[in-house]
Amino acid sequence: MNEFGKYRILLIEDEKDIRKMLSELLQSEGFDYVFTADSCAKALKTAYEQPIALFVLDIMLPDGDGFSLYEDIRHFSAAPVIFLTAKGRPEDKIKGLGLGADDYIVKPFLTGELVLRIKAVLRRTYGKATTDTKIMLADRYVDLEKAAVIKNDKEISLTAKEFLLIKKLYENKNKIVTNDALCMAAWGDGYYGYENTLPVHIRHLREKTELKPSSPVHIITVKGLGYRLVVKDEQDNI
Ligand code: CA
Repeated sequence: MNEFGKYRILLIEDEKDIRKMLSELLQSEGFDYVFTADSCAKALKTAYEQPIALFVLDIMLPDGDGFSLYEDIRHFSAAPVIFLTAKGRPEDKIKGLGLGADDYIVKPFLTGELVLRIKAVLRRTYGKATTDTKIMLADRYVDLEKAAVIKNDKEISLTAKEFLLIKKLYENKNKIVTNDALCMAAWGDGYYGYENTLPVHIRHLREKTELKPSSPVHIITVKGLGYRLVVKDEQDNI
């Protein structure tokens, strides 16, 4: 079985030759869904239409730069991003990682190396056992791969922030996660000023995940500290 076939990759690069070469290489490596864009505008259009699993993002683009495009993408997608940075611009690398990129690669690069990085990031992000990507709740479940809550076969999509918050809670399931840790997970280092909006995002999450959002049984408030996600482990007998 092809491990990578299902992942939709969006390659944003304005140099035609690099775009074509990478796209062909990824397809030959078993990626069945490779999308390409040569501008920020086209990238955003594709990203709205397709559930992209990973973005490869060039920094210098004809209608903007990769950093602002990254921030635009983050408004609706939590998918990992690998930046393509130009040689001799180390500040790009630092800025990219500071924004929360998952990896970067310096141009000119060996295409094989980029493919390895893409596979590594995909495995790191999505590669756990399938049961691990589903959070079972009372009458529904959260599908982390789809960034959605599934109830009676209906998909309720999560926003990027809701996704990052539930993922963080799930990584520490049944334990207290502090407000600081949750803000870090959702907004990164620069979360100052956003902490007041945390309860709002939690409320929206509860509306999507709880049977009775006003008396939650899964996302529990721990007064003055943070929140705790209460879920049963499949292996647990209780
Ligand atoms: Ca470029």
